[in-house]
Amino acid sequence: MACIARRNNEQAMSKLQIDALVLGAGPAGSAFALNLAPFQKVLMVDVAPGSHLAGAGFRIGESLPAAAGKLLADMGLYEEFVQQGHLPARLNTSNWGGENTVEQDSMRNLDGHGWYLDRLRFDAWLQEVAQGRGAALLRQARLASFQAARENPEWWDVLLEVQGKNVHIETKMLIDASGRKSLLTRQQGIARKVLDKLVCSWVAGVDCDRDDSDSAGVSHICAEEGGWWYTSSLPGRGRIVGFYTDADLPQAGQCSHQTGLLQRLNSNIALTVYLQEQGFVPGNHHGFCAAHSAMPDSVAGTNWLAVGDAALSFDPLSSQGIFNALYTGLAAAEAVSHYDAAAQADYAAELASIQAAYLQHLKVWYQQEQRWAEQPFWQRRNASLMTA
Ligand SMILES: Cc1cc2nc3c(=O)[nH]c(=O)nc-3n(C[C@H](O)[C@H](O)[C@H](O)COP(=O)(O)OP(=O)(O)OC[C@H]3O[C@@H](n4cnc5c(N)ncnc54)[C@H](O)[C@@H]3O)c2cc1C
Repeated sequence: MACIARRNNEQAMSKLQIDALVLGAGPAGSAFALNLAPFQKVLMVDVAPGSHLAGAGFRIGESLPAAAGKLLADMGLYEEFVQQGHLPARLNTSNWGGENTVEQDSMRNLDGHGWYLDRLRFDAWLQEVAQGRGAALLRQARLASFQAARENPEWWDVLLEVQGKNVHIETKMLIDASGRKSLLTRQQGIARKVLDKLVCSWVAGVDCDRDDSDSAGVSHICAEEGGWWYTSSLPGRGRIVGFYTDADLPQAGQCSHQTGLLQRLNSNIALTVYLQEQGFVPGNHHGFCAAHSAMPDSVAGTNWLAVGDAALSFDPLSSQGIFNALYTGLAAAEAVSHYDAAAQADYAAELASIQAAYLQHLKVWYQQEQRWAEQPFWQRRNASLMTA
C-alpha cells in the first residue's frame, strides 16, 4: 500500500499543471496562445516536427483579407506583420457566372488591401510570437488520452506522447486547434457535419518573367464545367495554381497528380496564356487535399473549446479560413480568461452566427455560376449544399 501511495504521489508530483492545453499550433492555436499566455499558463502541442519553420517546404492557403489587418492590430501585431514581407493583394479578377472578367481592386476596399502570404513564414511567426509572450510549444507531440481528473473533475488529466516519451499534464482548459481533423472534438464523440466533397489539386512554382511593378499581388478565379481554378502571385516571384472539384468526380482522379493537373490546365486557354505571360514554371511542390466545408455539432463544452478549422472549415473560395482562425483564437482566449460557462456559451453562439452567415454567402457565390448547371459539380451546389 505504501508503495502504491508513493508511486501515486510521485506521478502527481511529476504532473505539469497548466491553465490551457492547445492541441495544434496552426494560426488558430497560436492566436489563442499568444492572446492568453501573458495572463495564464499555456502549452501548445503539435504533431508536426517543425514543418512550420520558414523555408521548409510549402503550405497552401495564402490569401489573407484586408480585414485581418484590424485583427492583427487588436492583438498588437500589425506593425510586426507588415515587416514580414508578405505580398500586398492589389487586384482580384474573376471569370465567374459569365464570360466577362470582373475586377476587384483593393483601392475600392475601405479596409485597404489584403495580403498573399508566405504561409510557412506566417505560421512560424505566430508560433514565435506566442512563445515570446510566454506560451510553451512541444513539437512531435500527440494526445494519447484525456479524461476528467479523478481528484478534481473541473480539471483534465492528459497524457501526451512527446517524441516517444509520456508526459502527464493537468489542465483547466482543452483547446481543439487541430484543424480539419478536429481531433479533440471527435474524440469526445461529437459528430462533424461535412457539407460537400471539395478537394484541391495544386502546384506551386515561380514566375520567371513577372514584372513585379504591375502584376504582383494579383489573383484570378475562373470557373469551368468541372469546378474552378485559382491562381495567385506569392512573395518572391512565387505562384500557386489550384484546381477545385469534388473528390468523387473523374476530374479529381485526373488531377490528383501534377502531370494530370497541368494537362487539364492546358485546356484552359485564357489561364494558360496568362501564366505563360508571367513565365510560370511549376516547381516540385504539388498537393492534393481536402477543401470541403465542415463543422462539428458543438464547438464548446465543459472546459473545452474548438477554434479555427476545428470549429468551422471554410470553402477556400471564401478566403476566410485564416481570418477565422485568428478571430476565433482571440475570441476563445477572451472566453477562457473569464473562466465561466456564460463566456463559453457566448463564444458558441457567436460561432453559430458566423456559420449561418458563411452558409448564406456560400449559397450566393455558387448560385452566381449557372453556365454548367447540368454538370455534377455545379448541380450539387445548386441543390443539396444550398439547402444546408
Ligand atoms: C486548398 C486550400 C486552400 C486554402 N486557401 C486559403 C486562403 O487562400 N485563405 C485562407 O484564409 N484560408 C485558406 N485555406 C484555409 C486555411 O489554410 C485554414 O483555414 C487555416 O489553416 C486554419 O488554421 P487552423 O490553425 O485552424 O488549422 P491548421 O492550420 O490546419 O493547423 C492545425 C495544426 O494542428 C496540428 N495537428 C493536427 N493534428 C494534430 C494532433 N493529433 N496533435 C497535435 N497537433 C495536431 C497540425 O500539425 C497543424 O499545425 C485553404 C485551405 C485549403 C485546404
